[in-house]
Formats: sequence, structure tokens, C-alpha cells
Amino acid sequence: MTRLLDTVESDPGLPQEADVVVIGAGIVGVAAAHAIAARGHSVALLEKGVVAGEQSSRNWGWCRLMNRDEREIPLMQHSIELWNRLPAEIGADMGYRRNGLVYVTRDPKQLAQWEAWIDMARRHQAHMRVVGPEEAKRLTPGNAQDWVGGVVSPGDGRAEPAMAAPALARAARARGATLHQGCAVRGLDTTGGRIAGVFTEKGYLRTGAVILAGGAWSSMFLRRHGIDLPQCSVHSTVFATTPAQQVTPGGLNTPDFILTPLLDGGYLVAAKARGRLELTPAGIRYAAKFWPTLARSWKMLDLRLGRSFLEGPDALHGAWSFGKPTVFERIRVLDPKPNTAIVEPALREIVAAYPELAGIRMARAWAGWIDSTPDAVPVISPVGSLPGLTIATGFSGHGFGIGPGAGRLAADLALGDAPVVDPTPFELARLVDGRPIRRPGAF
Ligand SMILES: Cc1cc2nc3c(=O)[nH]c(=O)nc-3n(C[C@H](O)[C@H](O)[C@H](O)COP(=O)(O)OP(=O)(O)OC[C@H]3O[C@@H](n4cnc5c(N)ncnc54)[C@H](O)[C@@H]3O)c2cc1C
Repeated sequence: MTRLLDTVESDPGLPQEADVVVIGAGIVGVAAAHAIAARGHSVALLEKGVVAGEQSSRNWGWCRLMNRDEREIPLMQHSIELWNRLPAEIGADMGYRRNGLVYVTRDPKQLAQWEAWIDMARRHQAHMRVVGPEEAKRLTPGNAQDWVGGVVSPGDGRAEPAMAAPALARAARARGATLHQGCAVRGLDTTGGRIAGVFTEKGYLRTGAVILAGGAWSSMFLRRHGIDLPQCSVHSTVFATTPAQQVTPGGLNTPDFILTPLLDGGYLVAAKARGRLELTPAGIRYAAKFWPTLARSWKMLDLRLGRSFLEGPDALHGAWSFGKPTVFERIRVLDPKPNTAIVEPALREIVAAYPELAGIRMARAWAGWIDSTPDAVPVISPVGSLPGLTIATGFSGHGFGIGPGAGRLAADLALGDAPVVDPTPFELARLVDGRPIRRPGAF
């Protein structure tokens, strides 16, 4: 019962220097490396495990504008352009299908929230549609439930996480980027008060510019260099089913489960169970900053003590040496145990809603740690105190869809090129300079 993930070949040796080093080969890191290589700069992409081994292969694959924080809309619109354009440009299928997304609800308050979001999104020329009970019913053929209404976003879609980042990593290599998997970065060389290179398990690499796209590990990595980034992780389980009759062409979000058709004829299922939040040193450190968001979503979270208190990115790591193996080598791929207790109840809900799916079974289950910021908006930002360092992290459960654009923006910032969208909403300062942290605008 393993997750599916395409593999990518690594380059044999570490170069001595590169114009830019990208740390982390999730969707954001590979997109950044691809954008940099496409502009003719030398770039080395360093990954402690394998391309997309962590969040970028564990997600639902939704590439959506719908229900995003307003601050992310321009960057997501650019990402949708990229999702449409990249497969032809790189000559590879990224599993991207623009089949639309449908959200339905039994809760009038929820419908009103969606309507308000759609009114806001019109200001950005984003056109989604609110539908009444009959059309919601028509959009969910075969579903035994009745709805008060729903929303349809025909321009949204899904890409295949097992394929997308690997395809883009291959394309980056074809443009001249070098890829080094099994190559943990232990730390930054900050000689002269700016980035001078990186210390890796495979040796030293000279560079004047680093993009840190380290997913859940970013905050801990930065803390070693005295840089504060409020970030914590939430555990989330998904599972894929055996092939079954198609009941929806695109992703479907109902109050009971979330169903996404897969290219192999099965479905990806996310139960509307609670996300698991484990008590960790990082969580305690940033509790005050996360509190307003936590208080709002408390009912959706299951707080407990778990292994992540002692190991992993949210544990305590102190000031490790760059000359010895580190936790990045000990944990090549963050691979939390899935909560399989959600599977049977979710399958029962699905069959109750869609009797024609009787007999559907789980094929594979897995989990991921979702790296989150207090306002659920990523940080894509240069670091004022350390020239040469750009951060691209904290995608808060919706970084796959926005990944191509986020990588492009990080590349712009690292190279000092004109940014593709206004980067101000993604600045690190908003989370650390003492101003009140905005509530998440996404749901
Ligand atoms: C269950 C689940 C469902 C989700 N559903 C969706 C969805 O439908 N749509 C959506 O848009 N988003 C979704 N997300 C969120 C999305 O997966 C993430 O936001 C996105 O993949 C983050 O990409 P990333 O490149 O920032 O991080 P990651 O994919 O986590 O990559 C970071 C990489 O950095 C590497 N790394 C870290 N430190 C070092 C180091 N020191 N040296 C070398 N390498 C290092 C890690 O090994 C890792 O491979 C979901 C997430 C989960 C877990």
C-alpha cells in the first residue's frame, strides 16, 4: 500500500558553485529551479530525500482559485495559466485536467460565506457561480442527499501529485538545472553577513543566492540561523480507492467527504474527519501567533501528544553542527502513519450517498504533515537580515495548486527580477514584526 510517485534521475556530482541553490524539491522548489534555469542561470536543486517525497506527492492535487484568501488570488491566477501552459512547454503530462470543482452544502451559513467570497473574487475577474438546491442536485447526479445550494468553479481543476513535480524537475534538468536527491543541506554559510554558500552532506557549494523551499522543515532550518518563522504542522490522512463508476468529472466537496476522481479510475478520498494537531515545542513557541486561527477552527482539530514532540521538524533540535549528520539525513522523507480509522466510516458515507458505488474499497492510504502559517498564507520573501536568502514556504494546505506560480515568484525575488505579482502579501515581516496577524481568508 504505497503511494505512487514518479522517479527522477539525479545528477552525479555536486557542482562547486551555482548562481542559485534551491533547498527542497517539492512542487515549489522544482518550479523555482525550472524558472531560474529557463532564464539561463545556473541552479542546483538539493533534496534530502526524493523529488516530491513529502507534501507535494501526498495531496489531493486540487488546483483551485475557489475559496482562497484574497491575498493569494493574483498568484493563483498566474499558477492556473502555468498549469495550462507548462505541459505543452515541457512536453510532459503533469496530470493536469481542468474539470472544474463543485462544492455543495446543507448549511445556509456556509452558502452565504461562499457567496460573499464569490462577490469579492469578482473584483479580480474571477467568475464562479453560486447554484440553488436544484442545480446543486443536478451537479451531483446519483447522490441521495439534498442540498441548500453550492458553488461551481469551472476554471479550477486537478493535477496528479505523483507526476507533476517529477515532470517539472525533469524539465528543469533539461534546461540545465542540476538535481541532487539524497543531499541534505545542513546549513547556510553566512560569511560576511550574507549568503556565501551551503553546507551539504555531499560537501560545500558556493552560491550568492539561496531559495529555501523546505516545506515543514523551513522554520526549524531558519531558527538555526537566528531567523524567526512562525510555522507549525497539521497531520492529515487521505486514501485512494479501487476503480469505480464515475460519479463526478471533477473534485467534489460535500459536507461528509471530499471525492476526487483519479486518472486510474479510482477516487482520492478525504474524510471530513478532524485534522490532527500534535503538541510540539514549535507549537508551544508559536501558540500565541496561531491562537486566533486555532480558536476559529478548534472544532475541526484533534489536539494530542504524539511522536512529533520528540522527532521531526516541530521538535527541538538546538544548534546542530554542519560537519556531522543531521536530522535531515535521519528523516529523509517525512512519512507519518495514516489514521486508517477514518477509512471505513468514509467509505460507508460514500456508499450511503452513492449506492452505485457499493463494493468500493480502499487501495492505498497515506498521510502528510501540512506546514502552516498563522494566517494560512505562505511566506515568499527575501530575508532582510540575511541578504541572498529568499524563503518560499508555509503553504498551509493549499500550496500544490499555487506551487508553479509560487516557484516563479521566488525565482523573481532571488534573481532581483520584476516580480510576476505584488509580493507584499507574502512578506515574512507581517508575521514577525509585532503587527496584528490577519485572520485567514481561506476556507
Ligand atoms: C493530505 C494533504 C492534502 C493536500 N491537498 C492539497 C490540494 O488539494 N491542493 C493544494 O494546493 N495543496 C494541497 N496540500 C498542500 C500541498 O501539498 C503543499 O502545500 C505543497 O505540496 C507544499 O509544497 P512545498 O514544495 O512547499 O513543500 P514539500 O512538498 O513538503 O517539499 C519540501 C521539500 O524540502 C525538502 N527539505 C526540507 N529540508 C531540507 C534540507 N535541509 N535539505 C534538503 N531538502 C530539504 C523535503 O525533503 C521536501 O521534499 C495538501 C497537503 C496534504 C498533506
